[in-house]
Amino acid sequence: MQLQKIPKVELHNHLEGSIRLDTLKEIAIELKVKALENAQGIEPFKQFFCLDKPTDSLTTFLTKFGNIQAVLVNYDIVERIAFEVCEDAHLQGVVLLELRYSPHYISLGHSEMTLDGIHLAVMKGVEKARSKYGIAVGLIGILDRNSTLEEAKRVSDFFCKYKRDFVAVDLANDEKYDALQFKHVFENAKEHGLGVTIHAGEAGTSENVREAIEVLGATRIGHGVMILQDDKVVELAKAKNILLEVCPISNWYCGVVPAYQSHPIRKLLDRGLKVSINSDDAGIFQTSLLQDYEMLSKHFSVTEREFLEMNLNALEASFVDQQLKDQVYRQHFEPYLNQIN
Ligand SMILES: [Zn+2]
Repeated sequence: MQLQKIPKVELHNHLEGSIRLDTLKEIAIELKVKALENAQGIEPFKQFFCLDKPTDSLTTFLTKFGNIQAVLVNYDIVERIAFEVCEDAHLQGVVLLELRYSPHYISLGHSEMTLDGIHLAVMKGVEKARSKYGIAVGLIGILDRNSTLEEAKRVSDFFCKYKRDFVAVDLANDEKYDALQFKHVFENAKEHGLGVTIHAGEAGTSENVREAIEVLGATRIGHGVMILQDDKVVELAKAKNILLEVCPISNWYCGVVPAYQSHPIRKLLDRGLKVSINSDDAGIFQTSLLQDYEMLSKHFSVTEREFLEMNLNALEASFVDQQLKDQVYRQHFEPYLNQIN
């Protein structure tokens, strides 16, 4: 099986975490980043921006995110990374990408950039990739679990203002922060036609998954691997046709599972849960979506049919409009299915 050729729908990909290392290096040199002043070769840049081995420390992971955020200082850079992340996805056989980002997070400490300006720069990069490669792209706006209700409302209103571009809202950051206070923020986003996906049950608990579905109205869960702690939540997810955006290498690198081989992907599939495969933050992990596919094929004997089914489930669960989904199906999945049947 040629993994690259399988048409892929990637639903969980963070713009800020998926930047090419070469690009980060180039920007850091241009900006004369102090910590990298005397850096030689690529290694110091990798140490500064990436995780080159698994960690069980969220702080280490977040430090890398912070180092990346600090160099996103102007609109040209934002446009460039948006284009490159879409281009990289296309090169791995992604035909529909849901790209998530946080304009609020990018703007922190960069007072010369506005949220509107950042969003327009992202859109320019995305449009360029759309017209060059024909890749379908939907944007997801990220809210921060650690923000105040007021902040979350403000950022969510921003996503609603640009609902022509955003297909959904997400909630990210450490699951120890209470998510329930944002109930009305998500209700409001839904009223504006936006979908809801929530990071839950990653390093947290199955209870967070239940809350995300029952209280916050999520129809997809970011990660959700901890769902297996509670059979009732598994049954709830199945009854509500919830899709888990599973990110196996990310779970390994962030210490959610002690070793790649102990990832619960097989158990999730065996329980009849809908699952899609995603890279999460390929730039930080120095990996790629294709490496996720390779690892799953090698360690869990995931077959071509299973990959296809996961991608068809991802297509069904995508938040982009039905017309675009139909088009993606006809253009990419139908020919592939005809070819392998
Ligand atoms: Zn994520």
